[in-house]
Formats: sequence, C-alpha cells, structure tokens
Amino acid sequence: MVHVAVVGTGRVGQGVAYTLIFERYVEKLTLVDIKPKVAEMVKEELYHGLSAHGYDIEIEAFEHSKYIENADLIVISAGFPRKPGMTRRDLADENAKIIKDIVTSTLDNNPKAWYFVITNPVDAMATLAYKLAERKRTVIGTGTNLETARFRTILSRALKVPMRMVEGFVGGEHGLAAVPLWSTVKIDGTPLEEYLKENKKEINKEEVVNYVKGISMEVIKALGGTRWGPAGSFIEIIRGIVLNTGKFLSYAIPRKFDNIDEPVHVTVPARLTRSLGPDIWNQLTKDEQEKIKEAAYAIYQTYSRAKNVVEK
Ligand code: NAD
Repeated sequence: MVHVAVVGTGRVGQGVAYTLIFERYVEKLTLVDIKPKVAEMVKEELYHGLSAHGYDIEIEAFEHSKYIENADLIVISAGFPRKPGMTRRDLADENAKIIKDIVTSTLDNNPKAWYFVITNPVDAMATLAYKLAERKRTVIGTGTNLETARFRTILSRALKVPMRMVEGFVGGEHGLAAVPLWSTVKIDGTPLEEYLKENKKEINKEEVVNYVKGISMEVIKALGGTRWGPAGSFIEIIRGIVLNTGKFLSYAIPRKFDNIDEPVHVTVPARLTRSLGPDIWNQLTKDEQEKIKEAAYAIYQTYSRAKNVVEK
C-alpha cells in the first residue's frame, strides 16, 4: 500500500492532493492543515471528486502533522506564499519555523517516510528539513522542475513546435538564481543551435528567460497564487519517487561543494529513481556549472539564516 501525506492543504497542497487521487498507486492519503476544518473539508471535496470514478482511496484529515503515521512519503506544502513584490527568499524566516514543526513532529511516527518539500524558498527549506532529520532521511526538494516546465512551455510557443518535441532543463535555485541550461535544449532530438540553423528560425533567449523567471509573479498578481503548474510538475517527481520511473527531472537533492560548509539542495537535472541519479553535471558547460555553484552558495546563505531562526 502506498500512503502519501500532504501537509498544508492550501492552494498548492490542494492541487497536489487532487492530482494524487488519480494516481492509482495511492491507496491512502493523509491531509493535514493547521487551519481548523481546512484539511477535513478538502477531504470531503476529494471524495466527491472521486465518486464518479468508481474506486476507493482511504483519506484521513488532521489539524496537526503529529497525527500522521506510517506514511511512505510526506509532502510539505505548508507555509506562507509570496505576495506581489516579494522574493521567495523573503519567506525563509517564517517558513523555517513551519518546516521545523512538521519535520520534528513526524520523524518518529513515520520511520520509513521520504520527505518531499514544496514550501518556499524551497531549496533552503529542503536543506533545513534534511538537517532537522539529522541527514538520516531522504529529503527531496521540488528544485527547478517548475522552471523546466515553464522553459519548455515558452520554447514550444516561441518556436511553434509541439511541447512533446521540446527537451531542455533549468537547474540551480528555484527562483532568482535559476539557471536555464541552454546546452540541454533539443527540438525533436536536434540540438537547439542546429535546429535554428536548419529551420532558419531565431529565438530571443532573453525573452525566454524573462518568461521562465517572471511568469509566476504574473500568475500571483492575477490569480493570487500558482496551483496547476505546481500540481502537474510535482506529480512527475512523486511518480519518480514512488514508481522508480527513471525519468530525468529537475529535482533537488543535497550536494556538497568545496566552498560551502554543508550540503545544500540545489538542482542538477538527474534521473529520478529510488537511488537518485545519475545526474547530467558532466554534460553541462563550464559556465552552466559555475552558475549552479553560485546558486548553491545563494541557497546556503538563505538556509543559514533560516537555520539561525529555528536554532534560537
Ligand atoms: P496557502 O497559503 O494557500 O497554503 C498554505 C497552507 O499551509 C495554509 O492552508 C496554512 O494553514 C497551512 N499551514 C501553515 N502552517 C502549517 C503547519 N505547521 N502545518 C500544517 N499546515 C500549515 O499557500 P500556497 O499557495 O498553497 O503555497 C504553499 C507554499 O508553497 C508556499 O511557501 C509557496 O511559496 C510554495 N510554493 C512552492 C512552489 C515550488 O516550486 N516549490 C511553487 C508554488 C508555491
């Protein structure tokens, strides 16, 4: 039986939970939200959504994560989201306290659980969760998988080709120090520069990057927050973890760099299996590798601040 818990059933957690009920490997779903009645009413809604599909999932709802027991995967989507004008890094201090509460209250009752962190600033929060779990649990962050989805969306639109023909990844930090990995872009199997020459097409790379880095704030301004992009992007990672799919994805796991004291969660696209890898580091250009190292350093700074907050 696969038991997934989703902690924080706000906008993003609800999207993820709704996606999970259609993943046939999920037999039990535990929902948690600290706001009274929220998880319970999401549970009711999910049962209504399921009713037409003719299969059963056990769904439980609680108002604290300490009640989660024997989950295989704990998805953490609890915490404050950005408001217009904020960066994800601005959320670190407040969300660090939430991460601490959730990780420390679930470790004992969920001895086999892997953690999947969504809460922003996600790379620093995943690094913090890993540290709070004494680096004894597998903790994966959503990394730049959402940027990768946005990268492919805009490439497909700009080049007027179907999405299924577009390959390409973003790495680094989710947010300001995201690194579009142009060397990984292929259109229908042909490297981008070759494809452009052969098809006499051009692409404005600056506009692509601006879309990848800026579209989420446009969504926040118009809709209050993102929901379906995260839900679609994160289910790919959850499938990778649970089903060992072996797909190359932009998820974040801890990496140690020479100039940084502790391992930090930063994204280098990698196969997602239970053994977490291999990654494509050696296929990246020197410049891309340097930019990922810079992103890792920025993540370390945010993480260090957040760690100080929870250690006070
Ligand atoms: P939201 O405000 O709609 O929902 C957050 C929920 O968390 C609320 O319902 C709140 O009651 C709950 N919560 C707070 N503390 C809790 C705790 N200790 N235990 C259980 N529940 C708790 O926010 P949202 O739009 O769903 O965003 C959630 C988080 O996801 C934010 O930090 C946001 O920035 C982040 N996010 C990350 C990505 C990514 O790519 N990693 C993408 C989108 C959003």
